[in-house]
Amino acid sequence: MAGKLVILSGPSGTGKSTIAKQLLKNEKFNLSFSISVCTRKKREGEIEGKDYYFLTIDKFKSKIEDNEFLEWEEVYPTCYYGTLKIEVERIKSMGKNVIFDVDVNGALSIKRSYKEDAVTIFIKPPSIEALEERLQNRSTETDDNLAKRLRKANMEMAYARKFDHIVINENLENAVKEAEEIVEKFIP
Ligand code: ADP
Ligand code: 5GP
Repeated sequence: MAGKLVILSGPSGTGKSTIAKQLLKNEKFNLSFSISVCTRKKREGEIEGKDYYFLTIDKFKSKIEDNEFLEWEEVYPTCYYGTLKIEVERIKSMGKNVIFDVDVNGALSIKRSYKEDAVTIFIKPPSIEALEERLQNRSTETDDNLAKRLRKANMEMAYARKFDHIVINENLENAVKEAEEIVEKFIP
């Protein structure tokens, strides 16, 4: 099976990329990660063209004008993120399924475009306090960025019911298992 879309979403720090990495390891799902474009600064250890395509805001805006995005959002003030149409085509043309880690609006927008070829999974933290602790332990954000992410988390949690599935990431192993079961049914 190829050309199916698995879309992970949920607040920053809830465990989306950790869970995505586990799903990517599972060869039977034949998944490849959709590398997004973003305008934030690269974190230590992140690799251009693996984690993201990092662009200036001006270059990002010219891609919007050229209609190159399947979807894009200003996820945090002055921080733009988007999925390029050619990225999805690149992965599909390799005969693979696509896994996304995108914000709630991006997730619902991709689902609207791909309908039954896409499944949306909301990764929910056990609580906002746990989310804060995870973001703090990850040590990737300045105080200002951490505050921005937590402010947005409450709004994002209200979107959970719009998703095909909700996985609570309290115990990581269980959450990965649940996500695997969902993907297994979707990509038989
Ligand atoms: P996201 O991609 O949603 O922003 P990450 O996958 O980077 O989140 O996870 C945020 C942090 O929380 C990371 O340091 C990760 O190792 C940790 N983490 C993920 N799942 C759990 C869990 N179930 N319990 C505790 N910490 C977790
Ligand atoms: P981070 O800066 O932590 O990597 O990502 C911040 C947020 O941006 C996360 O919610 C992540 O899912 C979202 N995001 C990453 N790539 C995209 C994208 O291409 N489109 C949209 N809409 N959101 C994205």
